[in-house]
Amino acid sequence: CALIPDWSHAMSKSETLFADAQRLIPGGVNSPVRAFTGVGGVPLFIERANGAYLYDADGKAYIDYVGSWGPMVLGHNHPAIRNAVIDAAERGLSFGAPTEMEVKMAQLVCELVPSMDMVRMVNSGTEATMSAIRLARGFTHRDKIIKFEGCYHGHADHLLVKAGSGALTLGQPNSPGVPADFAKHTLTCSYNDLDSVRAAFEQYPQEIAAIIVEPVAGNMNCIPPQDDFLPGLRSLCDEFGALLIIDEVMTGFRVALGGAQEYYDVQPDLTCLGKIIGGGMPVGAFGGRRDVMMALAPTGPVYQAGTLSGNPVAMAAGFACLTAVSQPGVHQRLTEQTDKLAAGLLRVAQEENIPLVVNHVGGMFGLFFTDAESVTCYADVTRCDVERFKRFFHLMLQEGVYLAPSAYEAGFMSVAHSDEDIQRTIDAARRCFAQL
Ligand code: PLP
Repeated sequence: CALIPDWSHAMSKSETLFADAQRLIPGGVNSPVRAFTGVGGVPLFIERANGAYLYDADGKAYIDYVGSWGPMVLGHNHPAIRNAVIDAAERGLSFGAPTEMEVKMAQLVCELVPSMDMVRMVNSGTEATMSAIRLARGFTHRDKIIKFEGCYHGHADHLLVKAGSGALTLGQPNSPGVPADFAKHTLTCSYNDLDSVRAAFEQYPQEIAAIIVEPVAGNMNCIPPQDDFLPGLRSLCDEFGALLIIDEVMTGFRVALGGAQEYYDVQPDLTCLGKIIGGGMPVGAFGGRRDVMMALAPTGPVYQAGTLSGNPVAMAAGFACLTAVSQPGVHQRLTEQTDKLAAGLLRVAQEENIPLVVNHVGGMFGLFFTDAESVTCYADVTRCDVERFKRFFHLMLQEGVYLAPSAYEAGFMSVAHSDEDIQRTIDAARRCFAQL
């Protein structure tokens, strides 16, 4: 580190830190989207956060609509979560043995998400989806899975797969390092297109273990499911003997208290959770039907484990977060604040003659710069004006509003966003639209 030059007189602290970070960490970040490659420029290095606000290393404040990519539904540095973490840490950081808090947490999660008879804690959303898919394969004795173009379920090998050249060709790896032999078991269908799913089942009627789906797609910006989509997936799974895995890592406890499955009234066999379930600590979970979950080690043959799974500090944070999120009025406020933001942005966009579509459900939203009437699948997203989004992103950043640094990510509201924060965001957006 002594070899790292000191740029501090010439550059902002974020620029200096980013220059240093790039020498030591690939791309300067520990998760790619943070590097601002989707929008260009230098990422903000964050020093602290409170409520709806982030404060960067140069001391500037931003209204935050990223919320640590979803977990911060209550706002940053929530006192109940902070105190629970401090309290738990005072009793020890990890025991590698069961604790009472794990039982309390399992009970709370299964109460809040009634399709989950049983739950297993892990350390990330990726672990949750990876383990749920292994379980589905082990339970059904089938290898293939269906995922949807534009949906992201973490970075396990078989989930980093894009569609082959024809809709029904076998999947192609999305990343070097993913063997084609793994990717070929992943079939990629089009979101909101039940015909493409039926065709996949008809081509492989006995081979598909599960469908995994984001019930509101939040990794290609924000695409809600059309009315028949989730019920249609449920019936196709029933018809062909496959399991339905709803990936609620993003939507869980955000779109509604019981997740998107409650909001859209659809019953999965397995659910994946992450983000909010840890209140900002690294937690994921998967769970569902008792007969399926009992196939998991040690009761069943499907192996899954974790040194730090159910970690006492993380469980304390998650329990405090879910307890606070379960209070009456939380989801109503999240939805109302998101509605206000969406309506305000649309209004000022129209006034400034900027064609804009805003999708939103519960506490998540997405902005699309497009002339289209609606945006309902990945192909629609790719037709939007990404260059215009990039300019808008940087103008908003200058205005002190932190949006997700990519045209392909959803925005997240928190209950800490006040009417004044939202009005400031809309006023800032109007000034930015005027400059586009
Ligand atoms: N599933 C969904 C829907 C996600 O949005 C994400 C991450 O953004 C994941 C899974 C992976 O979660 P993690 O980043 O915690 O591994």
